Amino acid sequence: MKLLLVEDDPSISNPLCAGLNREGFDVVLATTGSGALEAEDVDLVLLDLGLPDLDGRVVCQKMRQKGDVPIIIVTARQDEIDRVMLLELGADDYVVKPFGFRELVARIRAVLRRTSTVSPTETTQTTWGSLTLDRRSRKVTFGGEDVVLTPKEFDVLAVLAQDPGAAVTREQLINEVWDENWWGSTKTLDVHIASVRKKTSPELIETIRGVGFRLAEV
Ligand code: CA
Repeated sequence: MKLLLVEDDPSISNPLCAGLNREGFDVVLATTGSGALEAEDVDLVLLDLGLPDLDGRVVCQKMRQKGDVPIIIVTARQDEIDRVMLLELGADDYVVKPFGFRELVARIRAVLRRTSTVSPTETTQTTWGSLTLDRRSRKVTFGGEDVVLTPKEFDVLAVLAQDPGAAVTREQLINEVWDENWWGSTKTLDVHIASVRKKTSPELIETIRGVGFRLAEV
């Protein structure tokens, strides 16, 4: 597994690189935002928000536009963490400095587990009305047009498409898409649902009051 560490402070990056190497990760270091955007392809990105050249949020957004590499944001405690903003940028998780090395490694492994595995025996493609969703390639089309979703938006839609038309509770969606370490606000789910509707059709995901959501055939 190859990680990209984007961190300008050597007092953090030096011990972190050494520790991650001991855990068996190859680490590519970038000390600036522009360096991070030019780095080679990796399996996961650890992104410091406070960088000397570019705003870390801009770096996150640009990486997300390029592909779906998992991103863990590393932020200083005094930074204002706007969680909805981080989600909209497409980050998969975040840690607050100072963080424990064990905690960070656990987060890295959890994110890699969540984002990497699709069992080959699982049904990989769902077609439902105008929607097609392919789990192996993580591609979605609606009415024949490609739909570009963030990794979490895709996961929300993929859970709903496991049994198209069936009601899925909010708890089930939150448990399957985020783990208990995530920020737990139910607003998070609504932000993602709203975004998927905006990118497809307002009618595609039907709200079932007091329960959750279901896919409508449109
Ligand atoms: Ca920094």
